[in-house]
Amino acid sequence: MVRSKKKDGSGSIYKSQQCEAQTLGKRQCRKRTARGKMCWIHLKKLKGLRVKKSKHGLGLFTTRDIKPKKIITPYEGERMTKKEAARKYPKNDARYMLCSNTTDLCVDARLSNSGVGRFANSARGSSKANNSRITDRSLNIKSRRKIKAGTEITYAYGSGHTILQPRSSQGATKLPPKSMRGRIGSASNVSGTKKTGYTAWM
Ligand SMILES: [Zn+2]
Repeated sequence: MVRSKKKDGSGSIYKSQQCEAQTLGKRQCRKRTARGKMCWIHLKKLKGLRVKKSKHGLGLFTTRDIKPKKIITPYEGERMTKKEAARKYPKNDARYMLCSNTTDLCVDARLSNSGVGRFANSARGSSKANNSRITDRSLNIKSRRKIKAGTEITYAYGSGHTILQPRSSQGATKLPPKSMRGRIGSASNVSGTKKTGYTAWM
């Protein structure tokens, strides 16, 4: 059962659900969670991850050492095409939307039980400050280097990104205002460069 509780004003919708994991007795875990799809105990045990307070609000942390170039978690949510995404957010105010640059895939993770990928923050400063990145085709969060247990997972939301919409009809792209780059809550529709390869609508 999924219950909607409240909006927190950032476009995020708080939803709780029963933990998806199975207990040792092969029954579904009875704990409820609104931070992803599993209770914190199963998230830690099965995925080696935790969602907890960071200096950016809630953040995603690893409880295990992670090797370079490993997929940490997919960016999960409602999957849609770019057209559908534009239709859903005509004002470009989606804040948990990621779109691939090379495919037509967009993922909207505005529901808090979309999966834990949505909780990963962007480190301030240069993109090198981020220990992870988003893969373009499938929108997975992948480690860029070795990450030690206990570390917050961060990836660049939008540094160096360009406005995408609507690339097909407007042609040339231009840079969003500096204040809008790489920040949560900048209601800009920005896209990844070829290098980072994803679109961040955050
Ligand atoms: Zn559980």
